[in-house]
Amino acid sequence: METKQFKAESKRLLDMMIHSIYTHKEIFLRELISNASDAIDKLYFKSLTDDKVGMNKEDFAIRIYADKDSRTLKIVDNGIGMTSEELENNLGTIANSGSLKFKNENKLDDDNQIIGQFGVGFYSAFMVAKKVTVISKAYGSDTAYQWESEGVDGYTITEAAKDTVGTEIILEMLDDTDDEKYGEFLDTYRIKGLISKYSDYIRFPIKMDITHSRPIELSEEDKAAGKTPEYEEYIETETLNSMVPLWKKNRSELKEEDYKHFYTEKFYDYNSPLKYSHVVNEGMPSYNALLYIPSKAPFDYYSKEYQKGLQLYSNGVLIMDKCEDLLPDYFGFVKGLVDSEDLSLNISREMLQHDRQLKVIAKSIEKTISNELKKMLKNEREKYEEFWKEFGIQMKFGVYNGYGINKEKLQDLILFTSSNENKLVTLDEYVTGMPEDQKYIYYATGETIARIEQLPQTELVKDKGFEILYMTDSVDEFAVRMLASYKEKEFRNVSSDDLGIEKDEKQEEEIKAKEAESADMLKVMAEALDGKAAKVVLSKRLKSHPVCLTSEGEISLEMEKVLNAMPGDQNVKAQRVLEINPEHEIFGKLKSISEAGDNDKLKKYANMLYTQAMLIEGMTIDNPVEFSNLICELM
Ligand code: ADP
Repeated sequence: METKQFKAESKRLLDMMIHSIYTHKEIFLRELISNASDAIDKLYFKSLTDDKVGMNKEDFAIRIYADKDSRTLKIVDNGIGMTSEELENNLGTIANSGSLKFKNENKLDDDNQIIGQFGVGFYSAFMVAKKVTVISKAYGSDTAYQWESEGVDGYTITEAAKDTVGTEIILEMLDDTDDEKYGEFLDTYRIKGLISKYSDYIRFPIKMDITHSRPIELSEEDKAAGKTPEYEEYIETETLNSMVPLWKKNRSELKEEDYKHFYTEKFYDYNSPLKYSHVVNEGMPSYNALLYIPSKAPFDYYSKEYQKGLQLYSNGVLIMDKCEDLLPDYFGFVKGLVDSEDLSLNISREMLQHDRQLKVIAKSIEKTISNELKKMLKNEREKYEEFWKEFGIQMKFGVYNGYGINKEKLQDLILFTSSNENKLVTLDEYVTGMPEDQKYIYYATGETIARIEQLPQTELVKDKGFEILYMTDSVDEFAVRMLASYKEKEFRNVSSDDLGIEKDEKQEEEIKAKEAESADMLKVMAEALDGKAAKVVLSKRLKSHPVCLTSEGEISLEMEKVLNAMPGDQNVKAQRVLEINPEHEIFGKLKSISEAGDNDKLKKYANMLYTQAMLIEGMTIDNPVEFSNLICELM
């Protein structure tokens, strides 16, 4: 008998196939089961128009047999089978898909269920098997044939004995190595796991005879004698796949419990989801989706390890466990899956070409999530706030990232803590509540709310009865800077020089006069702070505090802190301004030192007040010892 060589290009392809197309060896089972399901689909399709097929839908099944003694795994289907020519063409030429040809010949549109189209899946068997035998009898043929191969060296086709129509694939598993335990694929438990992971929603039952054991009932005598029962083995045929995916069921048939149960099982989260949504999209591309918002952020959510993404199915077969392209980063917390028949799969069924349909689906998913969140914000405020505490920071990053390209989509979903009772508010709520004479949206930044509340810079704004947004996350100020304004109201940091608060002309003039009077003193102090603060001025905003630190220009003190905490040598500096409260006792003290001409002492005071202001801001000071010595000296 002559051993045929694979077609020249096939050899290389097969080698590549075995070693590089797939990242996980375990998917061979998914590929073989998908082929079996395709073959059954083809015969089922024929049976609809051809009475001679003599099969009912319930008769079709895929069977799995695992035998550890002979290290063989058998996948058997009663589908359409292959003639010797088909064995030759389909399995002798890699990348020749009989399924695609069948689709084209029968002018099937994309709605049919046939999965295969690339003509490579079958060879994934060689990732785990040293020898593959295919025994097949085609529908309408009297003779069965056997195709046999041990990999790149070629294959043989001979006549074989098989009574029924269909195909048997027999894999003789590779020997175990230190790294790979191929024998695992013969464990019932492992097989069950793989089927429920990859092939749960194949439309035909995948059956396996499973051996269980049970105690043999004891006779009354033996029972009385206290004997322990012996065990006997028995075999039960189990169907390993659930066939109809939850997301393809009618929404009206499903209860909240079904969705929640599915979530906790599938996504290994023991907390029930906060929200779920079942999407059925009949447009083009058509898809079904189940989307979940977890109630708690996964433990690794804020680490590099976390991978966003939705599961992607094509016709009920899992293609990708985490399809990142389906979720924007700012909705990266969403869990769930998408199933579509309209995707163009690439060669390994693993990755999709970045195709148009996928993009359209992603867009529509994003809209759904955004609408769900808006609905929750409007109708279930408490729930939304719960959600916000878990995942809000992500959305604030979303506002900032990409130079604010998504800010419009997100601005109505973000919340900040308000100085009014420390409640969370939306920007819309803030702006709606603004009194007429309020020009800006005020915000203050700091490590904690308690700290912000003590900031002297908030005094004037609060005295005016204006609300302040408290920002404690480092991304916050970057996000509002990116927004720049909301409903035509600009954002203003309470530490910035112009607060747009209506001037008290009299006070202005008084301060101006005082500043002119103290010009020399302020100059000496500024000299003392050379390289630290750009200016020393008299404050219009301070009420009770002696000093505060503010900034001029683009970079605020908080931004300076955040940017300098980032990796790399940033060395960003805000233009700092030391403000002194002219109503405070300390001002009189400074004046008398200045009048006495003790410039040395004045410089020491300048340094001490500056350091004090830094501490109030929550900034770290360079030399605490020096500061402490300075205080003692001046006391
Ligand atoms: P694909 O499934 O992507 O077309 P495969 O390499 O997995 O590619 O299979 C090649 C071809 O072999 C299939 O298109 C199909 O025509 C045929 N084939 C594979 N397995 C079976 C089977 N169990 N029954 C009938 N035909 C099969």
